[in-house]
Amino acid sequence: MNGWSPESWRSRKALQQASYPDQAALAAALAELAELPPLVTPWEIHTLKDQLARAATGHGFLLQGGDCAEHFTDCQSDVIANKLKILLQMSLVLVHGLKQPVIRVGRIAGQYAKPRSADLETRGPLTLPSYRGDLVNGPEFTPEARTPDPKRLLRGHGRAAMTLNFIRALSESGFADLHHPENWDLAFMAHSPLADDYRKVLDALGESLRFMQVVGCGDSGELARVQFFASHEALHLPYEQALTRRVRQFDGWFDLSTHLPWIGFRTADPDGAHVEFMRGIANPVGVKLGGGLSAAWLEDLVQRLNPTREEGRLVLIHRFGVERIERELPPMIDAVRSTGQPVLWVCDPMHGNTETTARGYKTRRFERILDELCLAVDIHRELGSRLGGVHFELTGDDVTECLGGARGLNEIDLERAYCTQVDPRLNYEQALEMAMAIVRKIRG
Ligand code: PEP
Ligand code: MN
Repeated sequence: MNGWSPESWRSRKALQQASYPDQAALAAALAELAELPPLVTPWEIHTLKDQLARAATGHGFLLQGGDCAEHFTDCQSDVIANKLKILLQMSLVLVHGLKQPVIRVGRIAGQYAKPRSADLETRGPLTLPSYRGDLVNGPEFTPEARTPDPKRLLRGHGRAAMTLNFIRALSESGFADLHHPENWDLAFMAHSPLADDYRKVLDALGESLRFMQVVGCGDSGELARVQFFASHEALHLPYEQALTRRVRQFDGWFDLSTHLPWIGFRTADPDGAHVEFMRGIANPVGVKLGGGLSAAWLEDLVQRLNPTREEGRLVLIHRFGVERIERELPPMIDAVRSTGQPVLWVCDPMHGNTETTARGYKTRRFERILDELCLAVDIHRELGSRLGGVHFELTGDDVTECLGGARGLNEIDLERAYCTQVDPRLNYEQALEMAMAIVRKIRG
């Protein structure tokens, strides 16, 4: 690829990077990282790309979700299993309701680096570097924690590897067996107002599986495991570079830190370092699109990232917010159409709908999130395009970070279990309810 190498991004402006005081320690950590085994394989990446290509032509739906920021302390069996459970449950609801294959992608096993609105944070008399995710520094407001530490790159790789190892084991074993979806039940679900609706989906699914067995279709081995892919924002370029490897069989370079890396809204400048890095890797690539973008900008971006118009390569994740989507999305759809690019359109209804309560909690309202999703479905339809997936910040735990939903969480409830260090996530119940609402909207 012309002028590209795994480090050609270094000649461009790289926004949102950590500033390491000890460059020799950084170089040593990156050298070690470059020798370690990668986290995913090019074969898996190709499988995902094929599925994304099919979804872009109307045969499949992407479900992408997980924490805003993972923490090293999240590398625990329950936390990982709960996230897998909610994504599996949502995918069942979507498969059943949409009658389409669902591509399951976690924001998981590497979502450790975060963009921040300011480089520094001041509390009282003290000013320190902002928390940039566990891959860079710690959230505690002390000089020790906030100083970027290159050893965290190795810990991040290790935690991501352990997380993926556990996910792979669960997805391949009895846990993921479609004949036993009760394995994915979460303890607090029994008392949920949604329990009945979810049971109905399971009953219908069980009936279909039994029918398939009776008529002799369906390889039971296939139904005993699920495919699950990992994704994260490829923000920390030295880390991504160290895990980018040349793969001879495919005659290309792959970022083997994850299956689906994405470019964040703040770092999507076509001339910037992130776009330069991503244009040369063979993975499918996501890009977040937010308010204020011009059509010419997007045309330039997609041509640079996919000059050969490869199918399955581009996932455009729009996150305009419920107030702006009607104005901002249509010109983007037209712009992409004018380039002839085969993209998969996905809506992230979280990042454009964040607000702060009077008591100072950063939150999002279930109803506004859903409203943006519904508008996205309608706008794509009206323009002859198709919304081919959704992107959520969610957790399998019973947190109280977003308002509303079937249980009607209010501002007082937020104090009960507000756990996020960064953006507010849908809790388990809100996430499942969202999957049911998507089905209602799309199926009409
Ligand atoms: C995120 O996904 O957590 C994020 C920072 O999103 P965006 O780049 O869309 O702002
Ligand atoms: Mn976020």
